[in-house]
Amino acid sequence: MGYNLYINGESVPCDDHRDIFNPATDELLGQCPIASKAQLDAAVAAASEAFKSWSKTSNEERKNACHGIGAVLEENAEELSKLLTQEQGKPLNGVGSRFELGGCAGWAHFTAELELPVEVIQDNEEGRVEVHRKPIGVVGSITPWNWPLMIAIWHVIPAIRSGNTVVIKPSPFTPLSTLRMIELIAGILPKGVLNVVAGTDALGQMMSEHKDIQKIVFTGSCATGGKIMASAAPTLKRLTLELGGNDAGIVLPDVDAKAIAEGVFWGAFINGGQTCAALKRLYVHADVYDDVCLHLTEFAKNMPLGNGLDENNVLGPVQNLMQYKKVEGLVTDAVAKGAKILLGANPDHGVGYFYPTTILADCTDDMRLVAEEQFGPALPILKYTDIDDVIERANAVDVGLGGSVWSADKEKAKAIASRLECGSVWINAHGMIQPNVPFGGVKGSGIGVEFGIDGLKEYTTIQAVFA
Ligand code: NAD
Repeated sequence: MGYNLYINGESVPCDDHRDIFNPATDELLGQCPIASKAQLDAAVAAASEAFKSWSKTSNEERKNACHGIGAVLEENAEELSKLLTQEQGKPLNGVGSRFELGGCAGWAHFTAELELPVEVIQDNEEGRVEVHRKPIGVVGSITPWNWPLMIAIWHVIPAIRSGNTVVIKPSPFTPLSTLRMIELIAGILPKGVLNVVAGTDALGQMMSEHKDIQKIVFTGSCATGGKIMASAAPTLKRLTLELGGNDAGIVLPDVDAKAIAEGVFWGAFINGGQTCAALKRLYVHADVYDDVCLHLTEFAKNMPLGNGLDENNVLGPVQNLMQYKKVEGLVTDAVAKGAKILLGANPDHGVGYFYPTTILADCTDDMRLVAEEQFGPALPILKYTDIDDVIERANAVDVGLGGSVWSADKEKAKAIASRLECGSVWINAHGMIQPNVPFGGVKGSGIGVEFGIDGLKEYTTIQAVFA
């Protein structure tokens, strides 16, 4: 199947293309068009033109449009799920492609119902002051390869719900599913409201620098987030940056090790660990350390991993070779420094980027697997005895996306949770997100939040009206 850009309501071919391969089979999946600077300019011009009328549409019209997108996503969920599995690698089942498409539709419908009414700050004999929320203009959306469709929807829906227009650029690793999804959903909107361009990383930089894009919403790595901030500075763009994390989980000595195994497993291995707010370092109290290692390994070893199109599999390959090599290097380093392999490691280097589900015990904070974001299926388990000390270790990183505390005593866990430096914290779970709850990082994990009213506000500017 051929893939094109979608600009100003039309499917637009490109002169240049790049091959995209299925990470499970190494087979050619399709060709990604590479947009030129002129095509990016055309998309931004179309979005600027469309903004003139879209920003003036009624609240009702925009709400209905978002519900309409939700319906299109539902109607095409199976086609998009299969394409996503073939491109990204995640299985159809488990917390995989069908789950991701369900999330896309759910987020679209929920966000459609969010309202930003005029706020009356003051209404007395001295006067009336209202706060109005206005759309910003053209929003540039730049997305990563791990949850490409859901993250695209997280960017696009609040932007158009609040009256902006959008130019989206997917990751060069997973462009095809986004190109197809945007073509489907943009078709129900007035031309120019939603446009998609694809290409290399350089296209993202051109967007960050573009004088006619007023806001960038970016999900991806910390390093790229910093570059975008720098490129966006001369034009003073609004920014929402959802960046990387290195989430710690702290297991207290009062847990039932068998009972928490499933939650810990999915917290860490959702999407093969290629999830921003996955559990990436597990700190376990010495009293329950052996039990937690045992039950987690027992649970993990039965999870079927393979080609995601096989309905039996719940785990798939790593998405790309770069990431596969990173995970392999981090595990090799940890083992060399004394980590004990409880499960996995030693990949067979056969067809596809299959890295085994890997659990390592006896890890220490100086190992790269602990200090850096692995973004893959390898979980380090560390031992602790003193709670103050472990909180310090959990906080001793430059990022702060999520964190978790596992305990039979919720109140005790909450007190510890409040001391963790992260944007979201879970008790006896890890990584749950909801469309009504603001999600974002502290420290190097980003700027701003997505989801809910707070997330929607990020697509608006304030106008105070003194009447
Ligand atoms: P990445 O930063 O390499 O790429 C993300 C996007 O940025 C791609 O579309 C890429 O083409 C583009 N890009 C690259 N260089 C650019 C530049 N100089 N200017 C503008 N755009 C540029 O990230 P990735 O490897 O695709 O994603 C993995 C990372 O994303 C991990 O660190 C992960 O934790 C993070 N992530 C965060 C969240 C979150 O919500 N916080 C969600 C998913 C992923």
